[in-house]
Amino acid sequence: MRDMRSIFGPEGLLSKGIDCFTYRSGQEQMACLVSQAFGQDLFAIIEAGTGIGKSFAYLVPSMEYAGQSRSRLGDHDKLRTVIATGTLNLMTQLYDKDVSLLQTRMGYTANVSMLCGRGNYLCIRRWKELFDVRDTLNPAQKRSLEKVGDEVVRDGASGLRFRLEEKVGDALWSSIRADKDLCPAGSCPYIDECFFYKAKAEAKKADIVITNHSLLFSDARIKHDARENKESGADLVLPSFRHLVIDEAHGIQDNAARFYAMSYDPLLLEGLLRHLVTGGKGSAPLIPQVADVCDQPRLPMRISRSINELRELMLTANETLVASLGSREGGVEGEIPIARKGDFPEAVWKNLAKVEEGCADLAGDLHHLAKACGGVKQAEDAVAQVDAIATHIQEMAASLSELPKMDEANPDAFIRSVRVRHGQRQDWAVLDMVPFSVAEQLREDLYDQMRSIVFTSATLSTGSSGDFSYWMRQSGLLGYRKHPLAGGNPVSFPSPFDFERNMLILTVRGDSSMPNWQAGSHQAYDEVVAQTVLSLIKVAKGGVLVLLASYSDLYTLVKALAVAQPGEKESYRVRETERTLLFQGQAPRGKLTKAFLEDTDSVLLGTHSFWEGVDVPGSALSMVVIPRIPFRNVRDPFMVKVDELAHRREAEVNADKTLTDSQKRSILWRESPFSCYQVPYATLMLRQGIGRLIRTSEDRGVVALLDARLERLGYGKTMQKAFPTKAKAVDAEEMAQAASRFFGASG
Ligand code: SF4
Repeated sequence: MRDMRSIFGPEGLLSKGIDCFTYRSGQEQMACLVSQAFGQDLFAIIEAGTGIGKSFAYLVPSMEYAGQSRSRLGDHDKLRTVIATGTLNLMTQLYDKDVSLLQTRMGYTANVSMLCGRGNYLCIRRWKELFDVRDTLNPAQKRSLEKVGDEVVRDGASGLRFRLEEKVGDALWSSIRADKDLCPAGSCPYIDECFFYKAKAEAKKADIVITNHSLLFSDARIKHDARENKESGADLVLPSFRHLVIDEAHGIQDNAARFYAMSYDPLLLEGLLRHLVTGGKGSAPLIPQVADVCDQPRLPMRISRSINELRELMLTANETLVASLGSREGGVEGEIPIARKGDFPEAVWKNLAKVEEGCADLAGDLHHLAKACGGVKQAEDAVAQVDAIATHIQEMAASLSELPKMDEANPDAFIRSVRVRHGQRQDWAVLDMVPFSVAEQLREDLYDQMRSIVFTSATLSTGSSGDFSYWMRQSGLLGYRKHPLAGGNPVSFPSPFDFERNMLILTVRGDSSMPNWQAGSHQAYDEVVAQTVLSLIKVAKGGVLVLLASYSDLYTLVKALAVAQPGEKESYRVRETERTLLFQGQAPRGKLTKAFLEDTDSVLLGTHSFWEGVDVPGSALSMVVIPRIPFRNVRDPFMVKVDELAHRREAEVNADKTLTDSQKRSILWRESPFSCYQVPYATLMLRQGIGRLIRTSEDRGVVALLDARLERLGYGKTMQKAFPTKAKAVDAEEMAQAASRFFGASG
């Protein structure tokens, strides 16, 4: 591998090969660390501020490493690098822009492929089946289905939904996407043309595979299950790899937890049962197809009976569960934590146990049926689908058997909760079981299996002096000694942008009359916020992004600001201005962001996913307003569990006779959920939110933080240490003036 300084240095190969390349010392140092990690089997934790150019800093060493290893050893499986990013957007940007630039301008020959999760690919078989009965669709869906067909027969189509020019709606896509439960794989007549299997085969030949967190963690989970149950791991999508780069690594704990979770979703189960007995859109029911070739006629009949019985059991269990939720304080909205079995009447658990039994019996019979008809050519396809559905139903039975075990050994390992999905005819209760921490799983299933891993993101630390402990604890890296870190410690490379000149951060003065936000009674606060946000919008010189801490904050502000556009449905402007008002929930996220980018004077209001996922360079974004510190909701099942653990710890510490009162106070403050979770979590979120504003060296703008606790309270001051530039405190009424002066000065 060549020395990275000869590639990234001021006179290096990138300067000579790429016109728009600018030397950045942080990028050069980051590339050196990545190369060291690959070469010496180390891990690296790298915080790279916006504008460092972190994708080149890991892509170039990956390509150099691929070239060197291929010529020396020629074994893809041992040397392949997987690069996992947070979103499909980032994956595409890496693959289409950065990789292609490095290959065309720098002559890299590494074989790079992009692999997404199965559900992103079109299933040719399902598309053809639906095409044959297209007259049953509504006109818009029929047109869309035909357009998709025209597009995919063109050369080079990837079959990826987000690459299609035709924007397929969710309902239609769910009938034509590749689906593990409905894919007979080897016996599918279209396997040779299949988009998903072709992409998988390409990945197997590649030196570098670009994918996303979802696929990475689902792969880790499948490997885990394969090891535990001594299975073959035939469902693995990613090829073997020993080197890994995780970009956008700040979110790995939450992303990984989803894949180690178990759940029971009656609507999902109903969908599987429907495929068995009534078929899906355009596809024939599976059981009759298999029954035709089965030499055990009683078995399909027994299965049909069991399905009817299971449906009855599901309905009864659902009714009792939803009814018991309805009688709870706080109603049925959001995720409702289940702390102990006693949270629900005994009848709920009894009925769920019956569903579990029904699922287990049905799955057993379905597997039996698939085995009995295994060699029959005419029904090969249907038999494989029956087998896949049986496995899925078996997994639901397993989740249902684990759910009530909360009072047994290790009760803190999982967070159990229930959420309600509102259906057209009735509400459905979905039960979830998410691991409290995935640290151990990540260590065993991912970290221990790798030779090197580079973790990188623009925001991993929570203080001015680069405190990575919160993120490292959440990700299982605190105290992990198996792989030393390149550079000895986590490293932070600050952004090369001139924040002092280009960004004005405004906070509300601690001694001002601004009320503090208080749970339950924040009307006065909401009124000042609405007034201040409006005055800021009026002076902004471009788009304004308002980042809210909850949906309730969002709707309150929409109500205070929105004026319907006459004659236009679902279209609003900000009152007293001509600016378009866009808000989360009005349209899908991608559509909202596109509209925000196009209308450079618009105002966009968003909650959680907008804090980190919006990348708007230039004047389309000139101001970010954050009304409230984004603490995690205390009713969130994770925080409820954290609180429960903290209470137990408090009792333990208070009972310890060897400690003085002041030692006890200090331990309890240090270990309190507020200091250990809420403050670092909110600090990372604030850094993400503020980071939306300046995306290029030319960007300028204002960040207005309206929560006076940032100035009034100690933790607020601590949070400010993580800001990219020092904040200026003013009265809420003076914010618009201060912003206007900044815009005036910046021209
Ligand atoms: S192999 Fe599976 S995903 Fe591919 S076309 Fe056939 S059924 Fe669809």
